[in-house]
Amino acid sequence: MRDRKSRRAAGRLRRSFVRDKGVESNASITEDNWEALLDEHGHSRRRRMLVSEVIAELPPAQDDDDANAAIVMAVMSARCRVFGGGEERDCIVPPHIAMRRKSALAVGDRVRVVEDRVESVLPRRSVLARPDPQHKHLQRLIAANIDVVLNVVSVKAPPLRPRLIDRVLIAIQRGGAQAVIGVNKVDLLDDRSELNALDRYRDLGVTVIPCSTKTGEGLDELRASVEGKIAALVGHSGVGKSSILNALDERLQLATKSLHRRGTGRHTTTRSTLYDFGGGTYLIDTPGIREFGLWDLDRDSLRDYFPEFSEPSEYCRFTDCTHVHEPDCEVKRRVESGALDRARYETYVRLYEDLEEKR
Ligand code: GDP
Ligand code: ZN
Repeated sequence: MRDRKSRRAAGRLRRSFVRDKGVESNASITEDNWEALLDEHGHSRRRRMLVSEVIAELPPAQDDDDANAAIVMAVMSARCRVFGGGEERDCIVPPHIAMRRKSALAVGDRVRVVEDRVESVLPRRSVLARPDPQHKHLQRLIAANIDVVLNVVSVKAPPLRPRLIDRVLIAIQRGGAQAVIGVNKVDLLDDRSELNALDRYRDLGVTVIPCSTKTGEGLDELRASVEGKIAALVGHSGVGKSSILNALDERLQLATKSLHRRGTGRHTTTRSTLYDFGGGTYLIDTPGIREFGLWDLDRDSLRDYFPEFSEPSEYCRFTDCTHVHEPDCEVKRRVESGALDRARYETYVRLYEDLEEKR
Protein backbone atom coordinates (compact mmCIF):
# COMPACT_ATOMS: atom_id res chain seq x y z
CA MET A 1 0.00 0.00 0.00
CA ARG A 2 1.27 3.40 -0.87
CA ASP A 3 0.77 6.03 1.74
CA ARG A 4 1.55 9.65 2.29
CA LYS A 5 4.91 8.73 3.74
CA SER A 6 6.12 7.07 0.60
CA ARG A 7 5.01 10.10 -1.38
CA ARG A 8 7.00 12.26 0.95
CA ALA A 9 9.93 9.92 0.37
CA ALA A 10 9.66 10.55 -3.33
CA GLY A 11 9.67 14.27 -2.64
CA ARG A 12 12.77 13.88 -0.56
CA LEU A 13 14.33 11.86 -3.33
CA ARG A 14 13.75 14.66 -5.76
CA ARG A 15 15.25 17.13 -3.35
CA SER A 16 18.26 14.93 -2.89
CA PHE A 17 18.84 15.06 -6.65
CA VAL A 18 19.13 18.82 -6.42
CA ARG A 19 21.24 18.96 -3.29
CA ASP A 20 24.41 20.81 -4.11
CA LYS A 21 26.76 19.36 -1.57
CA GLY A 22 26.25 15.65 -1.96
CA VAL A 23 25.82 13.68 1.20
CA GLU A 24 26.29 15.60 4.38
CA SER A 25 29.76 14.81 5.55
CA ASN A 26 28.79 13.92 9.09
CA ALA A 27 26.94 10.80 8.01
CA SER A 28 28.15 7.24 7.67
CA ILE A 29 27.36 3.85 6.34
CA THR A 30 29.43 1.44 8.31
CA GLU A 31 30.76 -1.94 7.43
CA ASP A 32 28.32 -3.40 9.90
CA ASN A 33 25.16 -1.62 8.97
CA TRP A 34 25.50 -1.46 5.19
CA GLU A 35 24.11 -4.86 4.40
CA ALA A 36 21.42 -4.53 7.00
CA LEU A 37 20.38 -1.25 5.44
CA LEU A 38 20.13 -2.77 2.02
CA ASP A 39 18.29 -5.78 3.38
CA GLU A 40 15.80 -3.51 4.97
CA HIS A 41 15.61 -1.55 1.78
CA GLY A 42 15.19 -4.64 -0.34
CA HIS A 43 12.90 -6.99 1.47
CA SER A 44 10.71 -5.20 3.92
CA ARG A 45 7.07 -4.67 3.11
CA ARG A 46 7.14 -1.48 5.11
CA ARG A 47 8.17 1.69 3.43
CA ARG A 48 11.81 1.22 2.78
CA MET A 49 14.17 3.97 3.69
CA LEU A 50 16.27 5.21 0.88
CA VAL A 51 19.94 4.68 1.51
CA SER A 52 20.51 8.40 1.26
CA GLU A 53 18.01 9.00 4.05
CA VAL A 54 19.56 6.33 6.19
CA ILE A 55 22.98 7.84 5.72
CA ALA A 56 21.74 11.18 6.93
CA GLU A 57 20.46 9.63 10.14
CA LEU A 58 23.61 7.84 11.17
CA PRO A 59 25.99 9.26 13.78
CA PRO A 60 29.00 11.25 12.60
CA ALA A 61 32.41 9.62 12.22
CA GLN A 62 34.93 10.44 14.93
CA ASP A 63 36.95 13.50 14.04
CA ASP A 64 40.22 12.19 15.40
CA ASP A 65 39.84 9.07 13.27
CA ASP A 66 39.33 11.21 10.26
CA ALA A 67 42.35 13.39 10.87
CA ASN A 68 44.74 10.43 10.80
CA ALA A 69 43.05 8.54 8.03
CA ALA A 70 44.63 7.83 4.67
CA ILE A 71 42.56 7.63 1.51
CA VAL A 72 42.69 4.56 -0.74
CA MET A 73 43.84 5.43 -4.27
CA ALA A 74 43.96 1.96 -5.83
CA VAL A 75 43.26 -1.58 -4.69
CA MET A 76 45.36 -4.51 -5.87
CA SER A 77 45.12 -8.06 -4.57
CA ALA A 78 46.34 -8.05 -0.96
CA ARG A 79 47.79 -4.56 -1.37
CA CYS A 80 46.56 -1.06 -1.85
CA ARG A 81 47.98 2.36 -2.54
CA VAL A 82 47.02 5.07 -0.10
CA PHE A 83 47.53 8.78 0.27
CA GLY A 84 47.89 10.23 3.73
CA GLY A 85 50.06 12.50 5.80
CA GLY A 86 51.24 14.18 2.61
CA GLU A 87 52.58 11.08 0.93
CA GLU A 88 51.58 8.14 -1.19
CA ARG A 89 52.56 4.63 -0.24
CA ASP A 90 51.74 0.99 -0.76
CA CYS A 91 50.17 -0.94 2.08
CA ILE A 92 49.35 -4.49 2.90
CA VAL A 93 45.65 -5.31 3.07
CA PRO A 94 45.25 -8.03 5.70
CA PRO A 95 42.99 -10.96 4.75
CA HIS A 96 40.17 -10.04 7.11
CA ILE A 97 39.72 -6.81 5.18
CA ALA A 98 40.57 -8.11 1.70
CA MET A 99 38.28 -11.12 1.95
CA ARG A 100 35.07 -9.44 2.99
CA ARG A 101 32.59 -10.77 0.54
CA LYS A 102 30.30 -7.91 -0.18
CA SER A 103 32.19 -4.79 0.52
CA ALA A 104 35.92 -5.32 0.46
CA LEU A 105 38.17 -2.31 0.37
CA ALA A 106 37.23 0.26 -2.27
CA VAL A 107 38.91 3.26 -3.82
CA GLY A 108 37.94 6.32 -1.80
CA ASP A 109 37.81 4.37 1.44
CA ARG A 110 39.42 6.06 4.41
CA VAL A 111 41.67 3.73 6.31
CA ARG A 112 43.79 3.74 9.40
CA VAL A 113 47.28 2.55 8.52
CA VAL A 114 49.80 1.24 11.02
CA GLU A 115 53.26 0.41 9.73
CA ASP A 116 52.26 0.03 6.11
CA ARG A 117 49.36 -2.21 6.99
CA VAL A 118 45.70 -1.30 6.78
CA GLU A 119 44.35 -1.65 10.31
CA SER A 120 40.75 -0.67 9.76
CA VAL A 121 38.35 0.94 7.35
CA LEU A 122 36.46 4.00 8.56
CA PRO A 123 32.69 4.20 8.15
CA ARG A 124 31.62 5.11 4.64
CA ARG A 125 29.36 8.05 4.01
CA SER A 126 28.45 7.05 0.47
CA VAL A 127 29.16 4.33 -2.05
CA LEU A 128 28.71 3.58 -5.70
CA ALA A 129 27.92 -0.10 -6.08
CA ARG A 130 26.79 -2.58 -8.70
CA PRO A 131 26.32 -6.33 -8.65
CA ASP A 132 29.39 -8.36 -9.39
CA PRO A 133 29.04 -9.40 -13.06
CA GLN A 134 29.98 -13.01 -12.24
CA HIS A 135 28.18 -13.33 -8.93
CA LYS A 136 25.01 -11.29 -9.10
CA HIS A 137 24.22 -11.72 -5.43
CA LEU A 138 27.46 -10.02 -4.50
CA GLN A 139 27.94 -6.32 -4.44
CA ARG A 140 30.94 -4.74 -6.04
CA LEU A 141 31.95 -1.30 -4.84
CA ILE A 142 33.12 0.99 -7.60
CA ALA A 143 34.04 3.77 -5.19
CA ALA A 144 33.43 4.88 -1.62
CA ASN A 145 32.93 8.25 0.08
CA ILE A 146 32.21 10.10 -3.12
CA ASP A 147 30.38 13.42 -3.01
CA VAL A 148 29.61 13.46 -6.70
CA VAL A 149 29.27 10.89 -9.43
CA LEU A 150 29.93 12.45 -12.82
CA ASN A 151 28.16 10.29 -15.35
CA VAL A 152 29.99 11.03 -18.59
CA VAL A 153 27.91 10.39 -21.70
CA SER A 154 28.03 11.35 -25.33
CA VAL A 155 25.20 11.89 -27.79
CA LYS A 156 27.16 10.75 -30.83
CA ALA A 157 30.04 8.28 -31.05
CA PRO A 158 29.13 6.48 -28.85
CA PRO A 159 25.40 7.21 -29.03
CA LEU A 160 23.33 8.25 -26.06
CA ARG A 161 22.15 5.35 -23.89
CA PRO A 162 19.29 6.70 -21.81
CA ARG A 163 18.60 3.37 -20.11
CA LEU A 164 22.18 3.19 -18.89
CA ILE A 165 21.87 6.73 -17.55
CA ASP A 166 18.63 5.85 -15.74
CA ARG A 167 20.29 2.88 -14.08
CA VAL A 168 23.37 4.81 -13.09
CA LEU A 169 21.15 7.53 -11.59
CA ILE A 170 19.36 4.93 -9.48
CA ALA A 171 22.66 3.52 -8.25
CA ILE A 172 23.87 7.02 -7.39
CA GLN A 173 20.72 7.74 -5.44
CA ARG A 174 20.93 4.49 -3.54
CA GLY A 175 24.55 5.06 -2.65
CA GLY A 176 24.04 8.59 -1.41
CA ALA A 177 26.09 10.74 -3.79
CA GLN A 178 25.04 13.66 -5.95
CA ALA A 179 24.52 13.04 -9.67
CA VAL A 180 25.98 15.20 -12.41
CA ILE A 181 25.76 14.33 -16.12
CA GLY A 182 28.61 15.50 -18.34
CA VAL A 183 27.58 15.36 -22.00
CA ASN A 184 30.91 15.20 -23.78
CA LYS A 185 31.80 15.56 -27.48
CA VAL A 186 29.24 18.26 -28.16
CA ASP A 187 31.61 19.44 -30.92
CA LEU A 188 30.34 16.47 -32.94
CA LEU A 189 26.73 17.64 -32.94
CA ASP A 190 25.24 19.00 -36.15
CA ASP A 191 22.46 20.60 -34.23
CA ARG A 192 22.32 21.61 -30.57
CA SER A 193 18.73 20.39 -30.42
CA GLU A 194 20.23 16.91 -30.16
CA LEU A 195 20.91 17.85 -26.56
CA ASN A 196 17.18 18.05 -25.87
CA ALA A 197 17.25 14.34 -25.08
CA LEU A 198 18.97 15.33 -21.83
CA ASP A 199 16.17 17.66 -20.74
CA ARG A 200 14.44 14.81 -18.96
CA TYR A 201 17.32 14.70 -16.48
CA ARG A 202 17.36 18.47 -16.01
CA ASP A 203 13.66 18.21 -15.25
CA LEU A 204 14.55 15.84 -12.40
CA GLY A 205 16.93 18.41 -10.99
CA VAL A 206 20.12 16.69 -12.15
CA THR A 207 22.88 19.07 -13.27
CA VAL A 208 23.60 18.47 -16.97
CA ILE A 209 26.81 19.95 -18.37
CA PRO A 210 27.40 19.90 -22.14
CA CYS A 211 31.14 19.82 -22.76
CA SER A 212 33.92 19.06 -25.17
CA THR A 213 37.52 18.30 -24.43
CA LYS A 214 38.26 19.32 -28.02
CA THR A 215 36.85 22.85 -27.86
CA GLY A 216 37.05 23.38 -24.10
CA GLU A 217 33.35 24.07 -23.83
CA GLY A 218 31.89 23.32 -20.41
CA LEU A 219 35.21 22.43 -18.79
CA ASP A 220 34.99 25.28 -16.29
CA GLU A 221 31.55 24.15 -15.28
CA LEU A 222 32.73 20.55 -14.95
CA ARG A 223 35.65 21.69 -12.85
CA ALA A 224 33.36 23.71 -10.61
CA SER A 225 31.12 20.69 -10.12
CA VAL A 226 33.96 18.60 -8.69
CA GLU A 227 36.25 21.17 -7.09
CA GLY A 228 36.94 20.42 -3.43
CA LYS A 229 35.03 17.16 -3.67
CA ILE A 230 35.60 13.47 -4.19
CA ALA A 231 34.06 12.65 -7.55
CA ALA A 232 33.87 9.41 -9.51
CA LEU A 233 33.65 9.50 -13.29
CA VAL A 234 31.53 6.69 -14.70
CA GLY A 235 30.34 6.00 -18.20
CA HIS A 236 30.47 3.79 -21.23
CA SER A 237 33.98 3.40 -22.57
CA GLY A 238 34.85 5.82 -25.34
CA VAL A 239 32.74 8.70 -24.02
CA GLY A 240 35.86 10.60 -23.00
CA LYS A 241 36.37 10.04 -19.27
CA SER A 242 40.15 9.92 -19.59
CA SER A 243 40.14 12.95 -21.87
CA ILE A 244 38.11 14.86 -19.30
CA LEU A 245 40.49 13.89 -16.50
CA ASN A 246 43.40 15.08 -18.58
CA ALA A 247 41.63 18.28 -19.57
CA LEU A 248 40.78 19.10 -15.95
CA ASP A 249 44.20 18.16 -14.67
CA GLU A 250 46.32 21.01 -15.95
CA ARG A 251 44.22 23.88 -14.74
CA LEU A 252 43.41 22.32 -11.41
CA GLN A 253 47.12 21.96 -10.76
CA LEU A 254 47.71 25.58 -11.63
CA ALA A 255 44.82 26.65 -9.48
CA THR A 256 45.90 24.70 -6.45
CA LYS A 257 49.68 24.45 -6.79
CA SER A 258 49.47 21.08 -5.15
CA LEU A 259 52.58 18.99 -4.72
CA HIS A 260 50.70 15.85 -5.42
CA ARG A 261 50.15 15.15 -9.03
CA ARG A 262 48.57 12.46 -11.00
CA GLY A 263 51.11 9.96 -12.17
CA THR A 264 52.23 10.32 -15.74
CA GLY A 265 51.26 7.76 -18.33
CA ARG A 266 47.85 6.21 -18.46
CA HIS A 267 47.10 2.59 -18.13
CA THR A 268 43.90 1.08 -19.40
CA THR A 269 41.39 1.43 -16.63
CA THR A 270 40.35 -1.96 -15.41
CA ARG A 271 39.91 -0.91 -11.81
CA SER A 272 38.99 2.33 -10.16
CA THR A 273 41.88 4.70 -9.50
CA LEU A 274 41.83 7.85 -7.43
CA TYR A 275 43.80 10.89 -8.51
CA ASP A 276 44.62 13.71 -6.17
CA PHE A 277 44.09 16.96 -8.02
CA GLY A 278 45.07 19.04 -4.99
CA GLY A 279 42.94 21.53 -3.11
CA GLY A 280 40.81 18.75 -1.67
CA THR A 281 39.70 17.58 -5.11
CA TYR A 282 39.93 13.87 -5.76
CA LEU A 283 38.77 12.33 -9.01
CA ILE A 284 38.19 8.62 -9.42
CA ASP A 285 38.51 7.06 -12.84
CA THR A 286 36.40 3.91 -13.11
CA PRO A 287 36.30 1.06 -15.61
CA GLY A 288 34.05 1.71 -18.62
CA ILE A 289 30.60 0.26 -18.10
CA ARG A 290 28.57 -1.40 -20.81
CA GLU A 291 25.69 -2.41 -18.62
CA PHE A 292 24.87 -1.46 -15.11
CA GLY A 293 23.05 -3.90 -12.89
CA LEU A 294 21.19 -2.74 -9.85
CA TRP A 295 22.13 -4.51 -6.73
CA ASP A 296 19.39 -5.93 -4.56
CA LEU A 297 16.61 -3.68 -5.77
CA ASP A 298 12.99 -4.82 -5.58
CA ARG A 299 9.93 -3.90 -7.57
CA ASP A 300 8.23 -1.99 -4.80
CA SER A 301 11.10 0.36 -4.21
CA LEU A 302 11.80 0.87 -7.91
CA ARG A 303 9.18 3.59 -8.27
CA ASP A 304 10.84 5.64 -5.56
CA TYR A 305 13.65 6.21 -8.03
CA PHE A 306 11.28 7.71 -10.56
CA PRO A 307 10.25 10.79 -8.62
CA GLU A 308 8.32 12.16 -11.58
CA PHE A 309 5.73 9.37 -11.04
CA SER A 310 4.99 10.50 -7.52
CA GLU A 311 2.44 13.25 -8.16
CA PRO A 312 0.55 11.55 -11.01
CA SER A 313 0.32 8.30 -9.01
CA GLU A 314 -2.02 10.05 -6.62
CA TYR A 315 -4.60 9.93 -9.43
CA CYS A 316 -4.12 6.25 -10.32
CA ARG A 317 -7.17 4.16 -9.52
CA PHE A 318 -5.19 1.86 -7.23
CA THR A 319 -3.19 3.34 -4.41
CA ASP A 320 -0.45 0.75 -4.91
CA CYS A 321 -0.53 0.99 -8.70
CA THR A 322 2.68 -0.30 -10.27
CA HIS A 323 1.93 1.69 -13.45
CA VAL A 324 2.66 -1.38 -15.52
CA HIS A 325 -0.52 -3.39 -16.03
CA GLU A 326 -3.28 -1.71 -14.01
CA PRO A 327 -6.27 -0.02 -15.66
CA ASP A 328 -6.92 3.66 -15.13
CA CYS A 329 -3.32 4.55 -14.46
CA GLU A 330 -2.46 8.24 -14.50
CA VAL A 331 1.24 7.61 -15.08
CA LYS A 332 0.47 5.71 -18.28
CA ARG A 333 -2.02 8.39 -19.28
CA ARG A 334 0.61 11.10 -18.92
CA VAL A 335 3.14 9.08 -20.87
CA GLU A 336 0.56 8.84 -23.68
CA SER A 337 -0.14 12.56 -23.59
CA GLY A 338 3.57 13.35 -23.61
CA ALA A 339 3.52 15.01 -20.19
CA LEU A 340 5.84 12.30 -18.83
CA ASP A 341 8.94 11.15 -20.64
CA ARG A 342 8.35 7.92 -22.51
CA ALA A 343 11.94 6.70 -22.45
CA ARG A 344 12.12 7.04 -18.67
CA TYR A 345 8.84 5.17 -18.35
CA GLU A 346 10.14 2.41 -20.62
CA THR A 347 13.26 2.08 -18.50
CA TYR A 348 10.99 1.70 -15.50
CA VAL A 349 8.91 -1.04 -17.14
CA ARG A 350 12.01 -2.92 -18.27
CA LEU A 351 13.56 -2.77 -14.85
CA TYR A 352 10.26 -3.80 -13.30
CA GLU A 353 10.07 -6.87 -15.51
CA ASP A 354 13.71 -7.63 -15.00
CA LEU A 355 13.35 -7.57 -11.25
CA GLU A 356 10.47 -10.07 -11.26
CA GLU A 357 12.51 -12.57 -13.25
CA LYS A 358 15.21 -12.58 -10.67
CA ARG A 359 12.97 -13.23 -7.70
P1 GDP B 1 37.12 6.85 -22.14
O1 GDP B 1 37.10 5.44 -22.64
O2 GDP B 1 35.78 7.27 -21.63
O3 GDP B 1 38.21 7.12 -21.16
O4 GDP B 1 37.35 7.78 -23.45
P2 GDP B 1 38.69 8.49 -23.97
O5 GDP B 1 39.01 9.68 -23.15
O6 GDP B 1 39.75 7.47 -24.14
O7 GDP B 1 38.19 9.04 -25.38
C1 GDP B 1 37.74 8.17 -26.41
C2 GDP B 1 37.93 8.87 -27.76
O8 GDP B 1 37.10 10.03 -27.83
C3 GDP B 1 39.36 9.35 -27.99
O9 GDP B 1 39.68 9.11 -29.31
C4 GDP B 1 39.27 10.84 -27.71
O10 GDP B 1 40.23 11.57 -28.44
C5 GDP B 1 37.87 11.18 -28.17
N1 GDP B 1 37.31 12.34 -27.47
C6 GDP B 1 37.37 12.63 -26.16
N2 GDP B 1 36.74 13.79 -25.89
C7 GDP B 1 36.27 14.26 -27.07
C8 GDP B 1 35.53 15.43 -27.46
O11 GDP B 1 35.15 16.29 -26.66
N3 GDP B 1 35.21 15.54 -28.78
C9 GDP B 1 35.58 14.62 -29.71
N4 GDP B 1 35.22 14.82 -30.98
N5 GDP B 1 36.29 13.51 -29.38
C10 GDP B 1 36.63 13.32 -28.09
ZN1 ZN C 1 -0.44 3.98 -12.06
